[in-house]
Amino acid sequence: KGGKGGKDSGANYNINLKNAVDGQVVTRFPPEPSGYLHIGHAKAALLNQYFAQHYHGKLLIRFDDTNPSKENVEFQDAILEDLELMGIKGDSVSYTSDHFDTLYKIMIQMITDGKAYADDTPVEQMREERTEGIASARRERTVEENLKIFQEMCDGTEEGLKNCIRAKLSVTSPNKALRDPVMYRCNLTPHHRLGTKWKVYPTYDFACPIVDSIEGVTHALRTNEYRDRNPQYEWVLKAVGMRKVNIWDFSRINFVRTLLSKRKLQWFVDQGLVSGWDDPRFPTIRGVRRRGMTIEGLRKFILAQGPSKNILNLEWSLIWATNKKEIDPVAPRYVAVIDENKVKITLEGGPAATFTEDKPKHKKNAELGTKKVMYGSEIFVDQEDAQTFKEGEEITLMDWGNAILKTIHKDGEIVTGIDAVLHLEGDFKKTEKKVTWLASTPELTPVDLVDFDSLITKDKLEENDDIKDFVNPNTEFHTAAVADLNVRELKEGDIIQFERKGYYRLDKPYSESSPAVFFTIPDGKTVSKY
Ligand code: ATP
Ligand code: MG
Ligand code: MG
Repeated sequence: KGGKGGKDSGANYNINLKNAVDGQVVTRFPPEPSGYLHIGHAKAALLNQYFAQHYHGKLLIRFDDTNPSKENVEFQDAILEDLELMGIKGDSVSYTSDHFDTLYKIMIQMITDGKAYADDTPVEQMREERTEGIASARRERTVEENLKIFQEMCDGTEEGLKNCIRAKLSVTSPNKALRDPVMYRCNLTPHHRLGTKWKVYPTYDFACPIVDSIEGVTHALRTNEYRDRNPQYEWVLKAVGMRKVNIWDFSRINFVRTLLSKRKLQWFVDQGLVSGWDDPRFPTIRGVRRRGMTIEGLRKFILAQGPSKNILNLEWSLIWATNKKEIDPVAPRYVAVIDENKVKITLEGGPAATFTEDKPKHKKNAELGTKKVMYGSEIFVDQEDAQTFKEGEEITLMDWGNAILKTIHKDGEIVTGIDAVLHLEGDFKKTEKKVTWLASTPELTPVDLVDFDSLITKDKLEENDDIKDFVNPNTEFHTAAVADLNVRELKEGDIIQFERKGYYRLDKPYSESSPAVFFTIPDGKTVSKY
């Protein structure tokens, strides 16, 4: 196993691609550099990698850079970085814009052959005519006229800007994708690679099949929501007399209450509703990593889903549960106590002075090394735990021993303090409660525990829904806590467990002036939260 395209996928789908010859299959992942990669793109990229490896062929990465109004170098670089992070490496990286000269020549030929025409019908009207099956008034323009207008488009003149080039394919086909689709547009925005060299740009519908054919792609994997457009893809190659490419459909991945569209994610960024493309509430590769998803967890989850042809609307809990299996064996364990109304227990028979002992960071994983546990006669426990205590009860202080609770001081429901006796001879097997605690020392470290909710309130946004109506106003929740001194050594990105609380990823290390910021990593148990 192994092969090209980067890391071995480890999956095995038992799917045979039509016309696949071992050693000769070429797939491609064609992102548009118009945003950061999200987990939907991860699925497409991983599947293309899978089939390239499965058939000992090649995986191409191609930037579909045909719309300068949406694309830039920042996005392009970020996409390559994220692919690398996921262990996906193309056998080559190319750009649709590498082929603009060829595409231009092919379009001249198509127009000359009477297979395409220039149209200046206003957008709205064009949409209506297409829906109704009405021919454009420009459909019968002469070849000469069409060539002249295409030239105007290339020059970016006023006349050129009003026009687009449409394939002369069909007016009334029941498949509306075949009703004279747009093949070229005029756009004066400079291109991020080629500057102002071009003022006309091929559409994805025109460029994709041709460039696939030129670059030797044997199998074009496409999401099945565009299945209607497959005949159009095939028509283009036939119209220009180029080598056929096998199309293979797979299903989009979707998650509840989640936008997987760069355009919509860009809107959240532009509105300042998130901190950026790596916001922990974002379904981007960077966002989910910042939230505490491991690359292994992500790869395993997506590959386990497989190419399934159903449109999926997955719960986030599924992917987080997969992630938990990755992090649980390797996340070092620390202790945190919620600051608000934390309860001081005064221990009779406790040590006269605080002392420190080394304890394993993970009881089942010695490789993680040790941490310092501080002991003292005054300790803090969570208010939530204290409220369950009864006078006379024997409890176990984890990593220490038992204590018997004597007096519980209360102010209404709130426990304000506890007097107890340390009872280290007590049997921890006989106690009902094993409690996390922290010695009251100056080394207690302030931490900010942050949890998040999904950015939108509706499970599945429909085409006509306005996002604005479904923006969740409250998606970030802070809880102040104190943690053991060991968390001061953690680095940004470290994943840990606070015992009995859950998994966290350190987003901002501790400093004298500000608490360590930890993001809660969902563990798949809570269904409603992202
Ligand atoms: P977006 O709407 O986010 O811009 P896109 O499809 O326009 O998505 P591209 O950069 O053109 O973005 O997509 C690159 C590849 O990723 C395409 O092959 C596309 O089919 C695939 N892809 C995009 N979203 C998903 C998804 N949710 N599930 C599976 N594949 C996806
Ligand atoms: Mg696209
Ligand atoms: Mg899209």
